[in-house]
Amino acid sequence: MRIKSPIITTIIVAALFAGLGCSSGEKTEFRILTAGIRHESNTFIPYLTMVSDFTLLRHRDVTQGKAWAKFLEDEGIEVIPTLHAIGGASGVVSKETYEAFREEILKALRVAGSVDGIFLDMHGALHVESYPDAQVDFIQQIREIVGNDVIIAASFDLHGNISQEFMEGLNIVSAYRTAPHVDGEETRTRTVRLMVEALKNDLLPRVAHISLPILIPGEKGITSVEPLKSLYARLHEISRMAGLMDASIFVGMPWTDVSRAGMSVQVVAKDHQHLYEAQVQAEALANAIWERRADLKFDVTTALIDGAIKTALEAPDSTWFITDSGDNVTAGAAGDGTLVLERLLAYKVKDAILAGIVDPEAVEQCVAAGVGAKIDLSIGGKIDNVFSKPLAVSGTVLRLTKEQPDSKQLDAVIRVDGVTVVLLSRHRAFTDPAHFQAVEIDPLAHNIVVVKEGYLFQGLRDIAPHAIMALTPGFANQLVENIEYKNVRRPIFPLNPDMIWSANNFTGN
Ligand SMILES: [Zn+2]
Repeated sequence: MRIKSPIITTIIVAALFAGLGCSSGEKTEFRILTAGIRHESNTFIPYLTMVSDFTLLRHRDVTQGKAWAKFLEDEGIEVIPTLHAIGGASGVVSKETYEAFREEILKALRVAGSVDGIFLDMHGALHVESYPDAQVDFIQQIREIVGNDVIIAASFDLHGNISQEFMEGLNIVSAYRTAPHVDGEETRTRTVRLMVEALKNDLLPRVAHISLPILIPGEKGITSVEPLKSLYARLHEISRMAGLMDASIFVGMPWTDVSRAGMSVQVVAKDHQHLYEAQVQAEALANAIWERRADLKFDVTTALIDGAIKTALEAPDSTWFITDSGDNVTAGAAGDGTLVLERLLAYKVKDAILAGIVDPEAVEQCVAAGVGAKIDLSIGGKIDNVFSKPLAVSGTVLRLTKEQPDSKQLDAVIRVDGVTVVLLSRHRAFTDPAHFQAVEIDPLAHNIVVVKEGYLFQGLRDIAPHAIMALTPGFANQLVENIEYKNVRRPIFPLNPDMIWSANNFTGN
């Protein structure tokens, strides 16, 4: 337990003697402030991410319905919610946007007075214009206010790009252990649980961090297949070792062209005395990953787009999900690329779904024309005018739909020859059968279903009879070997395939 003053000590000792130690639901003296800036910044996108691109949670919205908050509440801990800015994947965050978020959080921290811990809900791949590493700035500014004795615990998406300097500001780090992700709430809850464990036992945990020179797209880092399956299984073992609390593997985000981009591992030690053990384990884990680097491969069939379409056409009675991976909306790509549509039309396919192309202007034209109208449109290629261009099509408006029953904006479903195209009024991905239901399409009733993601998300994976990842151009090019990086550190695998490396930085073994 973190003991603040002789008076509190006396109360605690008295309580313990009375058999009233901290138990579930009982009020403790701990106060935890929470904040977060979650963003996956793709530096190849030629436009900035602004405040309006984030969902901003404040006050009760931060904690309501959240498993991690319920855990803290059950522990009798006072939670002070401040801004949680939650974004998806998109371009670099504007300086003004980041600074507005940071200042709001810092102000709340100053107003909050003394706190015992801070829980940060992060993604880890944040990149802000004019900042070499905004996550370091963020943590350093927090530390300036609270000093080094307040525990700061942060949860992350495993696609974060993590630097040593950032880790030095944190006491507890815990990343998702599944990709595709199904353990977001679990990870946030684990993170706060570890923080509470540290507070109750008067521990000040420390993080051992090792950056690996490996740069892979998430599609080569699926945690349910080897080699990551067994490497992630080691995290549980490490977490249970004496003196250690938790361990993480970050796959990293390859479309953030920064020196910290790439894989990394972290092991959390209970305190400074156990940091050496944490470093030894981090080193062993990093070396084990390095040894398996050549096995970090796509676990799905890949093909160029023409090959993918031809394969699907050879088995017309089944459904083939084709992912337009270069235009992967979930990695921040534009979502308005037209290459796949152009190729489907060139092959005169008879039964394909394309979900979808982001084009609010075209949606408006469809709304104005009305259901059943024949319409000429120039669609897509407006956001991504680097790898794509608008495509002129003639089609029929089949229906106007809504993402959610209460959505203000409409989407439009049009038919162009044998292709049913969903035109979207905003940037979003079809990752689940429910997204198809919203546009009244049964994907399994069609031969080809194109979605703009890399690996198929779990909801579609569960239903897809066949899947091919099409290696298409775009802001999320899967072939990182072909990307012209300016800032990614070198040497790095696989850009420098023959490089030699070993994680001997800490123990010198
Ligand atoms: Zn992720």
